[in-house]
Amino acid sequence: ATFDRLGLDSRILQALVKEKFPKPTLVQAKAIPLALEGKDILARAKTGSGKTAAYLLPILQSILKKKSTVSSVKGTSALILVPTRELADQVSKAVTAFSAYCAKDVRSVNLTQKVSDAVQQSLLADSPDIVIATPARASLNLNNSALSLEQLAHLVIDEADLVLSYGYDADLKNISKSIPKGVQTFLMSATLTTEVDDLKGLFCRSPVTLKL
Ligand code: AMP
Repeated sequence: ATFDRLGLDSRILQALVKEKFPKPTLVQAKAIPLALEGKDILARAKTGSGKTAAYLLPILQSILKKKSTVSSVKGTSALILVPTRELADQVSKAVTAFSAYCAKDVRSVNLTQKVSDAVQQSLLADSPDIVIATPARASLNLNNSALSLEQLAHLVIDEADLVLSYGYDADLKNISKSIPKGVQTFLMSATLTTEVDDLKGLFCRSPVTLKL
């Protein structure tokens, strides 16, 4: 398989060349076509498998497509929930790298930095396309209405097993109440525990399960 067979925007393909990604990893080859069809995905995928691009590339594709058809797209399209600031930083860097050739169309915010609530609110003020956050930060900003999920199209819970083991259950429940119907969900987890399975009920329709 090659990336250009997957039907990705040429600006994304250009970025993959620049990043020296010669071909999709296994999880990317399996997940990207399903994700582009709009399927929910539950993937057992470890760090190092290429799981980040497996969800980011289809999300970027969807954002670019929306921007090319609707002239003034407003609102957050994707919420990416992660267990730690370190992972948020990595995901944020990956967004920047993959959107290097379409940076004006893809605005993203990393909500996990050590900044005040007021600064977080100002980061969210003009509705970035992609928001990367821990469940706690996302929940906080939902509760004070700084974050709106009305236009949400994609939800990612990355390292879902860690998110749960860090005790973010209550935040996830709170967030789930604000997720519009029909949002595409990606659950990425190194292990598929019963707790991760419970998240399926909270966030997914009928996900395709990839055990890699
Ligand atoms: P991840 O599992 O998403 O944390 O990715 C692990 C590492 O693999 C990161 O450094 C990525 O930049 C790299 N990577 C991901 N996908 C590919 C690919 N298709 N080709 C080469 N490197 C990749």
